[in-house]
Amino acid sequence: MSVLVFVEVADGEVKGSSLEAVGYGAEVAKQQGTTATAIVLGTSIAADKLAALGKYGAAKVLHVADEKLNNGVIQAYVQVLAQAFEQTGAKILIVAKSSLSDAVTARLSVRLKASLASNVTDLPSTNGGFTVKKSVFTGKAFQTISLANENKIIALKKSAFSPVDSGSPAPVETFSASLSDADFGVKITKTDKITGELLLTEADLVVSGGRGLKGPENWGVILDLAKALNAATGCSKPVSDLDWRPHHEHVGQTGVKVAPNLYVAVGISGAIQHLAGVSSSKCIVVINKDPEAPFFKAADYGIVGDAFEILPKLTAAAQKLK
Ligand SMILES: Cc1cc2nc3c(=O)[nH]c(=O)nc-3n(C[C@H](O)[C@H](O)[C@H](O)COP(=O)(O)OP(=O)(O)OC[C@H]3O[C@@H](n4cnc5c(N)ncnc54)[C@H](O)[C@@H]3O)c2cc1C
Repeated sequence: MSVLVFVEVADGEVKGSSLEAVGYGAEVAKQQGTTATAIVLGTSIAADKLAALGKYGAAKVLHVADEKLNNGVIQAYVQVLAQAFEQTGAKILIVAKSSLSDAVTARLSVRLKASLASNVTDLPSTNGGFTVKKSVFTGKAFQTISLANENKIIALKKSAFSPVDSGSPAPVETFSASLSDADFGVKITKTDKITGELLLTEADLVVSGGRGLKGPENWGVILDLAKALNAATGCSKPVSDLDWRPHHEHVGQTGVKVAPNLYVAVGISGAIQHLAGVSSSKCIVVINKDPEAPFFKAADYGIVGDAFEILPKLTAAAQKLK
């Protein structure tokens, strides 16, 4: 029995959230007295990057080198993962929570008759059963749930586990899955990607601006700080509603949910709907000229002052550190 970890790839790189899943999978495997096997689908990743998953805890890497799997075709991914799960004798599948893994694991749990837990934040407790803690109500509460079936699927919440790069490269084996045309009934014909920007959902650092910035013409101070920190940029809902910034930057309950190591909120009041999208951030820095702004209650660090005075100083300091 091994633990299987599904690893997602984006632009030829293992996604950061999947590295977290590999590290987490290795710890779960240790608990179970076994090892973690990572599985990667598609041909868009170089061999050395596959082997490097060993450094994060994978004892072995299975590679399904079929270019038809380069895009996340849900049905085909379900087929491959189900076959790998059965053939490796795994009882636990670990994935990083994402829109792709949400769709895949929902189908897999039916196919494998597996108990499924999503948004999991901690290692399982195996004292008299198998329970996991998961985040619910957009991060405002936790639930402890018991996974009773023999087969189990755990989708790890982003940033819930810090991967450690400490091991050595793992052996990579080819895994051949049996796939038919019916598994590719949905074809992605075109993907229009935003280029030249860090992906907000994957970013380690995010600098976000609100209505306090007064207008789109003032966004230079946000962009300069983001550039100096190598951070992605976000914004509050009204900012994107007003077309000051593109809609894909809108963070919050009705927008993107982020979980970076550092979230810098500038001129954002901290309405509950905004906080719902950022509460999983490891460290929140708030810059606001109103000392009573609600965001300060959720902040690890706060600076009371005018963003237009503070941001250039922060940017200069960040550039100096570089
Ligand atoms: C159903 C629903 C869903 C919603 N979903 C979302 C969502 O997903 N995301 C979201 O963001 N909002 C959402 N909202 C809107 C939310 O309630 C707030 O209205 C919104 O977040 C406020 O945006 P803001 O903080 O940018 O603007 P404001 O509330 O206007 O705050 C601006 C802040 O900037 C500060 N400021 C002004 N000048 C400066 C300066 N020079 N330097 C520093 N600080 C300054 C002010 O003190 C103030 O705190 C939703 C609302 C509803 C009803």
